Amino acid sequence: MARLLLVEDDETIGQALSTSLTAHGHSVSWAPTGNGALRESRLGSFDLILLDLGLPDLDGVAVCRELRTTQADTVIVMLTARDEEMDVIIGLEAGADDYLTKPVRLAELHARLRAHLRRGESITRPDTTEPTQLGDLVVDTSSRRVTLAGADVPLRAKEFELLARLAAQPGVAVSRDTLMSDVWDEHWFGSTKTLDVHVAALRRRFSDAGDGALVPTIVTLRGHGYRLDVPPSA
Ligand code: CA
Repeated sequence: MARLLLVEDDETIGQALSTSLTAHGHSVSWAPTGNGALRESRLGSFDLILLDLGLPDLDGVAVCRELRTTQADTVIVMLTARDEEMDVIIGLEAGADDYLTKPVRLAELHARLRAHLRRGESITRPDTTEPTQLGDLVVDTSSRRVTLAGADVPLRAKEFELLARLAAQPGVAVSRDTLMSDVWDEHWFGSTKTLDVHVAALRRRFSDAGDGALVPTIVTLRGHGYRLDVPPSA
């Protein structure tokens, strides 16, 4: 059972989602406004937040950013209308992990939730105890810790798993399908834009390392996927 916060102002949709989530064994708190969601988030911690972006009182992306400050380890999945494409990208950058487009299909919703809630179980090399060192970057899957030139790199759950997956095979091209299936879910049937957003986030973390650090490069392979290249002088 997971503790879920459902943020949805539409009575019909909210009721349908709440009923279905409860039937799947989750404990659901339902907030119909952005302010209500922020209040709930200060009262308790949640495993996952389903956040409608179109809220009556506050901007959904701003709510997302605020929720992220109090619920650091919570998975945030945005619910969006098709014409909110820009909001999705901004929302993912504001700390959301994923999004679903309305009308939400319940089978897809539950598949996504399963994928997110099993996070931490999909580490690529669970039996590896030795950290992987690539230049100044060290990825330790046993402690789920990443350091860059000795400094801790704070990563979100999926950012870590994506990096661990790429670092498991440095210099090897990994297809989008493989990354989606290994890091997210084998039955993923949503957009894979979330992959690109997570890659962009990792690149930003690497660029924070500053000049002189030997940082791996995540190379985009058009029409295929990504490859993690070790720094040239490493
Ligand atoms: Ca709405």
